Amino acid sequence: MSCEDPSSARMIRSPKHLQKGTCIKCKTSKGKITIRHAVYCKECFFSFIRLKFRRGLEPYINADPLSSRTKLKASGNLTLALSGGMGSVALLDLIYSTYLTDTSPVGRMHRQKIWPQVYIVFVDLSAVYPEKDEMRDLGTQIQSLKQRYPEVEMISARIESVFDRDWWTSTGGSNVDSSSVDLKDSDLPFSSSLLHDDPVASFQKYLSSLPTSTSITASIDLFIRAILVHLASWTRSSHLLMGTSLTSLSVGLINCVSQGGGYHVHEEQEEVLDGIRIIRPLRDTSAKEVAYYAWWSGLDVPGRQRPTTLSGIKEQTRAFIFGLDRHYPSTVSAITKTCAKVEAKSSSEIVAQQCRLCRRPIQDGIDAWKHRIAIRERSATLEENPHFEASSSSLGRHLCYPCHTTLSSPNSRTSMATSNTILNLPVWTSLTPRSSSLVSNSDPISAPIPQAIEEFLLPAE
Ligand SMILES: [Zn+2]
Ligand SMILES: [Zn+2]
Repeated sequence: MSCEDPSSARMIRSPKHLQKGTCIKCKTSKGKITIRHAVYCKECFFSFIRLKFRRGLEPYINADPLSSRTKLKASGNLTLALSGGMGSVALLDLIYSTYLTDTSPVGRMHRQKIWPQVYIVFVDLSAVYPEKDEMRDLGTQIQSLKQRYPEVEMISARIESVFDRDWWTSTGGSNVDSSSVDLKDSDLPFSSSLLHDDPVASFQKYLSSLPTSTSITASIDLFIRAILVHLASWTRSSHLLMGTSLTSLSVGLINCVSQGGGYHVHEEQEEVLDGIRIIRPLRDTSAKEVAYYAWWSGLDVPGRQRPTTLSGIKEQTRAFIFGLDRHYPSTVSAITKTCAKVEAKSSSEIVAQQCRLCRRPIQDGIDAWKHRIAIRERSATLEENPHFEASSSSLGRHLCYPCHTTLSSPNSRTSMATSNTILNLPVWTSLTPRSSSLVSNSDPISAPIPQAIEEFLLPAE
Protein backbone atom coordinates (compact mmCIF):
# COMPACT_ATOMS: atom_id res chain seq x y z
CA MET A 1 0.00 0.00 0.00
CA SER A 2 1.39 3.38 -0.96
CA CYS A 3 0.92 6.52 1.12
CA GLU A 4 0.85 8.73 -1.97
CA ASP A 5 -1.90 6.93 -3.84
CA PRO A 6 -5.06 6.69 -1.68
CA SER A 7 -6.86 4.58 -4.29
CA SER A 8 -4.49 1.68 -3.60
CA ALA A 9 -5.88 1.48 -0.04
CA ARG A 10 -9.38 0.71 -1.27
CA MET A 11 -10.78 -2.77 -0.85
CA ILE A 12 -10.98 -4.77 -4.05
CA ARG A 13 -14.51 -5.76 -4.96
CA SER A 14 -15.22 -9.44 -4.62
CA PRO A 15 -15.60 -11.24 -7.95
CA LYS A 16 -19.11 -12.41 -8.77
CA HIS A 17 -19.40 -16.18 -8.60
CA LEU A 18 -23.07 -16.30 -9.48
CA GLN A 19 -24.03 -19.32 -11.58
CA LYS A 20 -20.39 -20.22 -12.11
CA GLY A 21 -20.23 -23.22 -9.83
CA THR A 22 -22.19 -25.99 -8.21
CA CYS A 23 -24.00 -25.62 -4.89
CA ILE A 24 -21.67 -25.66 -1.87
CA LYS A 25 -24.17 -27.78 0.15
CA CYS A 26 -25.51 -30.56 -2.09
CA LYS A 27 -22.55 -30.39 -4.50
CA THR A 28 -24.79 -31.57 -7.37
CA SER A 29 -27.21 -28.80 -8.39
CA LYS A 30 -26.21 -25.70 -10.28
CA GLY A 31 -25.72 -22.62 -8.09
CA LYS A 32 -28.43 -19.95 -8.23
CA ILE A 33 -27.36 -17.41 -5.61
CA THR A 34 -24.10 -16.26 -4.05
CA ILE A 35 -24.18 -15.47 -0.33
CA ARG A 36 -20.91 -14.06 0.92
CA HIS A 37 -18.78 -15.88 -1.68
CA ALA A 38 -20.63 -19.21 -1.24
CA VAL A 39 -22.88 -20.51 -4.03
CA TYR A 40 -26.23 -22.18 -3.21
CA CYS A 41 -28.87 -23.88 -5.33
CA LYS A 42 -32.50 -22.85 -4.78
CA GLU A 43 -33.43 -25.81 -2.53
CA CYS A 44 -30.34 -25.50 -0.33
CA PHE A 45 -30.89 -21.73 -0.12
CA PHE A 46 -34.40 -22.26 1.30
CA SER A 47 -33.22 -24.77 3.91
CA PHE A 48 -30.33 -22.44 4.82
CA ILE A 49 -32.76 -19.51 5.38
CA ARG A 50 -35.13 -21.71 7.43
CA LEU A 51 -32.24 -22.94 9.54
CA LYS A 52 -31.10 -19.39 10.33
CA PHE A 53 -34.69 -18.32 11.06
CA ARG A 54 -35.28 -21.17 13.52
CA ARG A 55 -31.88 -20.61 15.11
CA GLY A 56 -32.82 -16.94 15.63
CA LEU A 57 -36.19 -17.74 17.23
CA GLU A 58 -36.41 -21.14 18.91
CA PRO A 59 -33.81 -20.61 21.68
CA TYR A 60 -36.00 -17.71 22.93
CA ILE A 61 -39.40 -19.43 22.86
CA ASN A 62 -39.35 -21.23 26.21
CA ALA A 63 -39.64 -19.02 29.27
CA ASP A 64 -36.72 -20.88 30.82
CA PRO A 65 -34.10 -21.38 28.10
CA LEU A 66 -31.95 -23.49 30.43
CA SER A 67 -34.73 -26.00 30.94
CA SER A 68 -33.65 -29.50 29.99
CA ARG A 69 -36.89 -30.30 28.15
CA THR A 70 -36.59 -30.02 24.41
CA LYS A 71 -40.25 -29.25 23.67
CA LEU A 72 -40.96 -25.73 22.50
CA LYS A 73 -43.64 -24.01 24.57
CA ALA A 74 -44.34 -20.30 24.85
CA SER A 75 -46.05 -18.88 27.91
CA GLY A 76 -48.46 -16.76 25.83
CA ASN A 77 -49.61 -15.84 22.32
CA LEU A 78 -47.48 -14.56 19.45
CA THR A 79 -47.65 -11.05 17.99
CA LEU A 80 -45.94 -10.28 14.70
CA ALA A 81 -45.24 -6.71 13.62
CA LEU A 82 -46.15 -6.15 9.96
CA SER A 83 -44.87 -3.00 8.27
CA GLY A 84 -45.60 -4.22 4.75
CA GLY A 85 -41.86 -4.33 4.02
CA MET A 86 -39.95 -7.31 2.66
CA GLY A 87 -38.65 -8.48 6.07
CA SER A 88 -41.99 -8.59 7.87
CA VAL A 89 -43.78 -10.29 4.94
CA ALA A 90 -41.00 -12.92 4.70
CA LEU A 91 -41.12 -13.44 8.48
CA LEU A 92 -44.90 -13.96 8.37
CA ASP A 93 -44.44 -16.54 5.61
CA LEU A 94 -41.68 -18.33 7.54
CA ILE A 95 -43.76 -18.43 10.74
CA TYR A 96 -46.79 -19.68 8.83
CA SER A 97 -45.01 -22.31 6.76
CA THR A 98 -42.89 -23.55 9.66
CA TYR A 99 -45.37 -23.71 12.54
CA LEU A 100 -48.92 -23.16 11.28
CA THR A 101 -49.47 -25.52 8.35
CA ASP A 102 -49.90 -29.27 8.18
CA THR A 103 -47.24 -29.59 5.49
CA SER A 104 -44.58 -27.84 7.57
CA PRO A 105 -41.55 -29.75 8.88
CA VAL A 106 -42.78 -29.47 12.48
CA GLY A 107 -46.50 -29.73 11.76
CA ARG A 108 -49.77 -28.53 13.21
CA MET A 109 -49.67 -30.48 16.47
CA HIS A 110 -46.35 -28.90 17.27
CA ARG A 111 -47.78 -25.41 16.70
CA GLN A 112 -50.68 -25.92 19.11
CA LYS A 113 -48.17 -26.41 21.85
CA ILE A 114 -46.03 -23.36 21.02
CA TRP A 115 -48.50 -20.42 20.76
CA PRO A 116 -52.27 -20.69 21.29
CA GLN A 117 -52.93 -17.79 18.88
CA VAL A 118 -50.92 -15.75 16.37
CA TYR A 119 -51.72 -12.04 15.86
CA ILE A 120 -50.42 -9.63 13.25
CA VAL A 121 -50.30 -5.95 14.13
CA PHE A 122 -50.17 -3.32 11.41
CA VAL A 123 -49.64 0.32 12.40
CA ASP A 124 -51.26 2.68 9.91
CA LEU A 125 -49.03 5.70 9.26
CA SER A 126 -51.41 7.63 7.00
CA ALA A 127 -51.70 10.43 9.60
CA VAL A 128 -47.99 11.15 9.09
CA TYR A 129 -48.54 12.03 5.43
CA PRO A 130 -52.27 12.74 5.09
CA GLU A 131 -51.83 14.14 1.56
CA LYS A 132 -50.46 10.86 0.14
CA ASP A 133 -53.13 8.49 -1.18
CA GLU A 134 -50.76 5.51 -1.51
CA MET A 135 -50.42 5.52 2.31
CA ARG A 136 -54.12 4.73 2.60
CA ASP A 137 -53.97 2.03 -0.09
CA LEU A 138 -51.40 0.06 1.86
CA GLY A 139 -53.97 -0.82 4.53
CA THR A 140 -56.11 -2.53 1.85
CA GLN A 141 -53.10 -4.41 0.47
CA ILE A 142 -52.22 -5.62 3.97
CA GLN A 143 -55.78 -6.92 4.35
CA SER A 144 -55.30 -9.10 1.26
CA LEU A 145 -52.55 -10.99 3.13
CA LYS A 146 -55.33 -12.41 5.29
CA GLN A 147 -56.36 -14.60 2.33
CA ARG A 148 -52.94 -16.19 2.14
CA TYR A 149 -52.63 -16.70 5.90
CA PRO A 150 -56.19 -17.40 7.13
CA GLU A 151 -55.20 -18.73 10.56
CA VAL A 152 -53.70 -15.51 11.86
CA GLU A 153 -55.72 -12.64 13.36
CA MET A 154 -54.94 -9.20 11.98
CA ILE A 155 -55.17 -6.08 14.14
CA SER A 156 -54.65 -2.59 12.77
CA ALA A 157 -53.93 0.51 14.82
CA ARG A 158 -53.43 4.11 13.80
CA ILE A 159 -50.20 5.89 14.70
CA GLU A 160 -52.09 8.80 16.32
CA SER A 161 -53.57 6.32 18.85
CA VAL A 162 -50.62 7.14 21.11
CA PHE A 163 -52.52 10.34 21.94
CA ASP A 164 -55.96 8.69 22.14
CA ARG A 165 -56.81 7.98 25.77
CA ASP A 166 -60.11 6.27 24.87
CA TRP A 167 -58.40 3.86 22.46
CA TRP A 168 -55.59 3.18 24.92
CA THR A 169 -58.05 2.38 27.74
CA SER A 170 -60.30 0.28 25.47
CA THR A 171 -57.29 -1.86 24.52
CA GLY A 172 -56.52 -2.66 28.14
CA GLY A 173 -54.27 0.29 28.96
CA SER A 174 -53.94 1.49 32.52
CA ASN A 175 -51.96 4.45 33.87
CA VAL A 176 -53.34 6.64 31.08
CA ASP A 177 -52.44 10.28 31.64
CA SER A 178 -53.07 13.72 30.23
CA SER A 179 -49.92 15.75 30.01
CA SER A 180 -48.14 18.33 27.92
CA VAL A 181 -44.64 19.76 27.69
CA ASP A 182 -43.03 23.02 26.59
CA LEU A 183 -40.10 22.54 24.20
CA LYS A 184 -38.88 26.12 24.55
CA ASP A 185 -36.90 25.34 27.70
CA SER A 186 -34.33 22.53 27.46
CA ASP A 187 -35.39 21.33 30.94
CA LEU A 188 -38.78 20.56 29.31
CA PRO A 189 -41.31 21.91 31.85
CA PHE A 190 -44.11 19.40 32.29
CA SER A 191 -47.80 20.05 32.85
CA SER A 192 -50.47 17.54 33.77
CA SER A 193 -53.13 19.13 31.59
CA LEU A 194 -53.91 18.80 27.90
CA LEU A 195 -54.04 21.57 25.29
CA HIS A 196 -56.94 19.89 23.50
CA ASP A 197 -58.31 16.38 23.15
CA ASP A 198 -58.05 15.55 19.44
CA PRO A 199 -55.54 12.68 18.82
CA VAL A 200 -54.85 13.57 15.15
CA ALA A 201 -54.25 17.24 15.97
CA SER A 202 -52.06 16.29 18.95
CA PHE A 203 -50.04 13.92 16.77
CA GLN A 204 -49.52 16.40 13.95
CA LYS A 205 -48.67 19.19 16.38
CA TYR A 206 -46.13 16.88 18.07
CA LEU A 207 -44.36 16.06 14.79
CA SER A 208 -44.39 19.63 13.49
CA SER A 209 -42.92 20.98 16.76
CA LEU A 210 -39.93 18.64 16.78
CA PRO A 211 -36.62 20.40 16.15
CA THR A 212 -35.12 18.21 13.38
CA SER A 213 -36.20 15.75 10.67
CA THR A 214 -34.08 13.14 12.50
CA SER A 215 -36.26 13.59 15.59
CA ILE A 216 -39.43 13.13 13.51
CA THR A 217 -38.25 9.71 12.29
CA ALA A 218 -37.09 8.79 15.81
CA SER A 219 -40.49 9.73 17.28
CA ILE A 220 -42.44 7.76 14.66
CA ASP A 221 -40.26 4.69 15.40
CA LEU A 222 -40.83 5.18 19.14
CA PHE A 223 -44.62 5.43 18.72
CA ILE A 224 -44.77 2.32 16.49
CA ARG A 225 -42.78 0.35 19.06
CA ALA A 226 -45.05 1.57 21.89
CA ILE A 227 -48.22 0.54 20.00
CA LEU A 228 -46.75 -2.88 19.15
CA VAL A 229 -45.76 -3.59 22.76
CA HIS A 230 -49.12 -2.30 24.02
CA LEU A 231 -51.13 -4.53 21.66
CA ALA A 232 -48.85 -7.51 22.29
CA SER A 233 -49.51 -7.06 25.99
CA TRP A 234 -53.24 -6.76 25.40
CA THR A 235 -53.38 -9.94 23.29
CA ARG A 236 -51.52 -11.69 26.13
CA SER A 237 -48.51 -12.37 23.94
CA SER A 238 -45.26 -13.64 25.35
CA HIS A 239 -43.33 -12.84 22.15
CA LEU A 240 -43.30 -9.89 19.77
CA LEU A 241 -41.50 -10.62 16.50
CA MET A 242 -40.01 -8.04 14.13
CA GLY A 243 -38.94 -8.75 10.54
CA THR A 244 -35.68 -6.82 10.91
CA SER A 245 -33.01 -8.24 8.58
CA LEU A 246 -29.28 -8.20 9.30
CA THR A 247 -28.94 -5.14 7.06
CA SER A 248 -31.81 -3.26 8.74
CA LEU A 249 -30.48 -4.18 12.18
CA SER A 250 -27.10 -2.67 11.23
CA VAL A 251 -28.91 0.50 10.11
CA GLY A 252 -30.79 0.58 13.43
CA LEU A 253 -27.62 0.12 15.48
CA ILE A 254 -25.58 2.78 13.68
CA ASN A 255 -28.59 5.11 13.79
CA CYS A 256 -29.03 4.46 17.52
CA VAL A 257 -25.37 5.20 18.29
CA SER A 258 -25.27 8.30 16.08
CA GLN A 259 -28.22 9.79 17.97
CA GLY A 260 -26.54 9.36 21.34
CA GLY A 261 -28.21 6.03 22.11
CA GLY A 262 -25.01 4.02 22.64
CA TYR A 263 -26.32 3.03 26.07
CA HIS A 264 -29.27 1.29 24.35
CA VAL A 265 -27.28 -0.83 21.88
CA HIS A 266 -28.39 -4.00 23.70
CA GLU A 267 -32.08 -2.94 23.72
CA GLU A 268 -31.86 -2.21 19.99
CA GLN A 269 -31.04 -5.90 19.41
CA GLU A 270 -33.32 -7.59 21.93
CA GLU A 271 -35.33 -6.45 24.92
CA VAL A 272 -38.07 -7.49 27.30
CA LEU A 273 -40.90 -5.02 28.00
CA ASP A 274 -43.97 -5.81 30.15
CA GLY A 275 -42.83 -9.43 30.17
CA ILE A 276 -42.88 -9.59 26.34
CA ARG A 277 -39.73 -10.70 24.54
CA ILE A 278 -39.03 -8.61 21.44
CA ILE A 279 -37.16 -10.86 18.99
CA ARG A 280 -35.79 -10.36 15.48
CA PRO A 281 -35.55 -13.89 14.02
CA LEU A 282 -34.08 -12.62 10.71
CA ARG A 283 -31.18 -10.82 12.39
CA ASP A 284 -28.68 -13.18 10.70
CA THR A 285 -30.33 -12.97 7.27
CA SER A 286 -29.24 -10.15 4.97
CA ALA A 287 -31.68 -7.95 3.03
CA LYS A 288 -30.54 -9.66 -0.19
CA GLU A 289 -31.37 -13.13 1.18
CA VAL A 290 -34.76 -11.88 2.43
CA ALA A 291 -35.47 -10.38 -1.00
CA TYR A 292 -34.60 -13.66 -2.79
CA TYR A 293 -36.70 -15.63 -0.30
CA ALA A 294 -39.70 -13.35 -0.98
CA TRP A 295 -39.17 -13.41 -4.76
CA TRP A 296 -38.71 -17.19 -5.08
CA SER A 297 -41.64 -17.85 -2.72
CA GLY A 298 -43.89 -15.62 -4.84
CA LEU A 299 -44.75 -13.39 -1.88
CA ASP A 300 -46.79 -10.26 -2.46
CA VAL A 301 -44.85 -7.46 -0.73
CA PRO A 302 -47.02 -4.33 -0.30
CA GLY A 303 -44.00 -2.14 0.58
CA ARG A 304 -43.26 -0.05 3.63
CA GLN A 305 -45.34 3.00 4.40
CA ARG A 306 -42.36 5.32 4.47
CA PRO A 307 -41.69 7.97 1.84
CA THR A 308 -38.07 8.33 0.76
CA THR A 309 -38.07 12.13 1.00
CA LEU A 310 -37.13 12.42 4.69
CA SER A 311 -33.54 13.46 5.14
CA GLY A 312 -32.76 12.55 8.75
CA ILE A 313 -29.80 10.57 10.10
CA LYS A 314 -31.71 7.29 9.77
CA GLU A 315 -32.48 7.71 6.05
CA GLN A 316 -28.87 8.63 5.32
CA THR A 317 -27.57 5.70 7.40
CA ARG A 318 -29.98 3.45 5.54
CA ALA A 319 -28.76 4.60 2.12
CA PHE A 320 -25.14 4.12 3.20
CA ILE A 321 -25.53 0.65 4.80
CA PHE A 322 -27.69 -0.74 1.98
CA GLY A 323 -25.08 0.50 -0.52
CA LEU A 324 -22.34 -1.14 1.55
CA ASP A 325 -24.30 -4.39 1.68
CA ARG A 326 -24.19 -4.69 -2.10
CA HIS A 327 -20.40 -5.03 -2.35
CA TYR A 328 -19.13 -5.61 1.19
CA PRO A 329 -21.76 -7.74 3.00
CA SER A 330 -19.22 -8.98 5.57
CA THR A 331 -18.66 -5.40 6.75
CA VAL A 332 -22.39 -5.04 7.42
CA SER A 333 -22.51 -8.25 9.44
CA ALA A 334 -19.40 -7.09 11.33
CA ILE A 335 -21.46 -4.12 12.63
CA THR A 336 -24.02 -6.39 14.32
CA LYS A 337 -21.37 -8.83 15.54
CA THR A 338 -19.39 -6.00 17.13
CA CYS A 339 -22.49 -4.43 18.70
CA ALA A 340 -23.52 -7.82 20.13
CA LYS A 341 -20.31 -7.77 22.19
CA VAL A 342 -20.83 -4.23 23.50
CA GLU A 343 -22.07 -3.95 27.07
CA ALA A 344 -23.30 -0.72 28.61
CA LYS A 345 -21.28 0.48 31.58
CA SER A 346 -23.51 0.63 34.64
CA SER A 347 -23.26 0.07 38.35
CA SER A 348 -25.07 -3.16 39.16
CA GLU A 349 -26.21 -1.98 42.63
CA ILE A 350 -28.51 0.75 41.29
CA VAL A 351 -31.61 -0.23 39.32
CA ALA A 352 -31.60 2.03 36.26
CA GLN A 353 -34.39 4.58 36.03
CA GLN A 354 -36.72 4.05 33.08
CA CYS A 355 -37.09 6.80 30.47
CA ARG A 356 -40.66 8.13 30.69
CA LEU A 357 -40.96 8.35 26.91
CA CYS A 358 -39.19 5.32 25.36
CA ARG A 359 -39.14 3.20 28.56
CA ARG A 360 -35.51 2.21 28.05
CA PRO A 361 -33.01 2.56 30.93
CA ILE A 362 -31.48 5.95 31.67
CA GLN A 363 -27.71 6.02 32.01
CA ASP A 364 -26.54 6.71 35.55
CA GLY A 365 -25.23 10.27 36.08
CA ILE A 366 -26.43 11.46 32.67
CA ASP A 367 -27.92 14.66 34.11
CA ALA A 368 -24.62 15.89 35.56
CA TRP A 369 -22.83 14.97 32.34
CA LYS A 370 -25.35 16.88 30.21
CA HIS A 371 -25.03 19.97 32.40
CA ARG A 372 -21.25 19.83 32.09
CA ILE A 373 -20.91 19.39 28.32
CA ALA A 374 -24.08 20.51 26.57
CA ILE A 375 -24.73 24.02 25.33
CA ARG A 376 -27.92 25.01 27.09
CA GLU A 377 -30.08 28.08 27.23
CA ARG A 378 -32.14 29.25 30.14
CA SER A 379 -35.34 30.81 28.94
CA ALA A 380 -38.07 32.59 30.82
CA THR A 381 -40.69 29.99 29.87
CA LEU A 382 -41.99 29.43 33.37
CA GLU A 383 -42.66 33.08 34.08
CA GLU A 384 -44.11 33.75 30.64
CA ASN A 385 -46.47 30.85 30.38
CA PRO A 386 -49.39 30.65 32.82
CA HIS A 387 -50.22 27.12 31.52
CA PHE A 388 -47.23 25.77 33.46
CA GLU A 389 -47.59 27.92 36.56
CA ALA A 390 -49.15 25.58 39.07
CA SER A 391 -47.95 22.05 38.36
CA SER A 392 -44.80 22.52 36.33
CA SER A 393 -41.73 20.41 36.87
CA SER A 394 -39.00 19.16 34.60
CA LEU A 395 -39.55 16.20 32.26
CA GLY A 396 -35.95 16.49 31.04
CA ARG A 397 -34.59 14.79 34.18
CA HIS A 398 -36.74 11.73 33.47
CA LEU A 399 -35.70 11.20 29.85
CA CYS A 400 -32.85 9.18 28.40
CA TYR A 401 -30.23 11.06 26.39
CA PRO A 402 -31.62 10.30 22.87
CA CYS A 403 -35.21 11.17 23.91
CA HIS A 404 -34.04 14.42 25.50
CA THR A 405 -32.10 15.31 22.34
CA THR A 406 -35.11 14.39 20.19
CA LEU A 407 -37.24 16.96 22.00
CA SER A 408 -34.73 19.67 22.73
CA SER A 409 -31.83 19.85 20.26
CA PRO A 410 -31.60 23.54 19.34
CA ASN A 411 -31.65 24.54 15.67
CA SER A 412 -33.22 26.95 13.24
CA ARG A 413 -36.51 25.06 13.18
CA THR A 414 -37.17 25.69 16.89
CA SER A 415 -36.26 29.36 16.71
CA MET A 416 -38.69 29.76 13.80
CA ALA A 417 -41.56 28.39 15.84
CA THR A 418 -40.85 29.89 19.25
CA SER A 419 -44.36 31.25 19.62
CA ASN A 420 -46.05 27.86 19.95
CA THR A 421 -43.87 25.20 21.53
CA ILE A 422 -46.33 23.48 23.88
CA LEU A 423 -47.46 20.02 22.82
CA ASN A 424 -49.39 17.08 24.22
CA LEU A 425 -47.41 14.03 25.29
CA PRO A 426 -48.24 10.38 24.49
CA VAL A 427 -50.72 8.85 26.94
CA TRP A 428 -48.18 6.81 28.93
CA THR A 429 -45.92 9.77 29.77
CA SER A 430 -45.96 10.77 33.42
CA LEU A 431 -43.53 12.13 36.00
CA THR A 432 -44.49 9.50 38.57
CA PRO A 433 -42.72 6.14 38.22
CA ARG A 434 -44.70 3.41 36.49
CA SER A 435 -45.29 -0.16 37.44
CA SER A 436 -43.55 -2.57 35.09
CA SER A 437 -46.68 -3.18 33.04
CA LEU A 438 -48.75 -0.54 31.27
CA VAL A 439 -51.63 -2.94 30.76
CA SER A 440 -53.89 -3.27 33.75
CA ASN A 441 -53.50 -6.53 35.63
CA SER A 442 -56.47 -5.88 37.88
CA ASP A 443 -58.84 -5.64 34.93
CA PRO A 444 -57.90 -8.33 32.42
CA ILE A 445 -59.96 -8.74 29.27
CA SER A 446 -63.02 -10.56 30.56
CA ALA A 447 -64.34 -11.61 27.14
CA PRO A 448 -62.36 -14.15 25.12
CA ILE A 449 -59.69 -12.33 23.09
CA PRO A 450 -61.31 -12.51 19.61
CA GLN A 451 -64.57 -10.91 20.88
CA ALA A 452 -62.75 -8.29 22.89
CA ILE A 453 -60.70 -7.10 19.91
CA GLU A 454 -63.39 -7.60 17.27
CA GLU A 455 -63.73 -3.87 16.74
CA PHE A 456 -60.08 -3.62 15.69
CA LEU A 457 -59.80 -6.76 13.58
CA LEU A 458 -59.61 -6.39 9.83
CA PRO A 459 -62.55 -8.09 8.10
CA ALA A 460 -61.89 -11.33 6.24
CA GLU A 461 -62.12 -10.89 2.48
ZN1 LIG B 1 -27.79 -27.47 -3.24
ZN1 LIG C 1 -35.99 7.56 26.10
